[in-house]
Amino acid sequence: MTQRILFLGPPGAGKGTQAQLLCASRGLLHLSTGDLLRGEVKAGTALGQEAEAVMARGELVSDQLVLAIVRGRLSGHQGGWLLDGFPRNLTQAEALETLLTELAQPIERVVLMELDDDLLLQRLLGRGRADDNEAVIRHRLSVYAEQTAPLIEHYNQQGLLVAVESSGTVEAIAERISAALD
Ligand code: ADP
Repeated sequence: MTQRILFLGPPGAGKGTQAQLLCASRGLLHLSTGDLLRGEVKAGTALGQEAEAVMARGELVSDQLVLAIVRGRLSGHQGGWLLDGFPRNLTQAEALETLLTELAQPIERVVLMELDDDLLLQRLLGRGRADDNEAVIRHRLSVYAEQTAPLIEHYNQQGLLVAVESSGTVEAIAERISAALD
């Protein structure tokens, strides 16, 4: 069974929800850099203070900072994992590959969750998180298009990508993801 999975897709596609379900059913470690960063902000750590304003603007937190977080969580972890919200640009993807080569734990599958911009916007506006107002959401979508979307081709070239249509119910999407994995 596939044990080392990466979720890719725009904000609002439902990565967090589906990641939780899949990790529960397969016993994987769920690593969401967004959740980890929000945890740091809430705890008021130095790292959180550095990240807070950047996140509120919808920009990406520094590569160095998120890489340190991911490295800390993956090193020493035994078993499978699911990365959600990371990598977010090519620099992060290359650093991740270096780390995973060191750990001898290559990515097995990249799941691209696809959804129309209109639906993304609707879902995000309904969520009410601190960075979910319309101007910031539009900015996050453009950051995704410019910095993260190039990873689609990157992982497609490596033969790792599967695309999953992410409209419909939570259950329907979960079934599509399971079917795409094996
Ligand atoms: P969403 O997918 O809805 O944008 P996330 O929880 O994944 O939400 O991310 C929220 C914010 O956290 C991002 O807008 C960004 O500021 C920061 N962030 C999360 N993951 C990363 C990452 N890998 N690199 C840089 N910044 C990140």
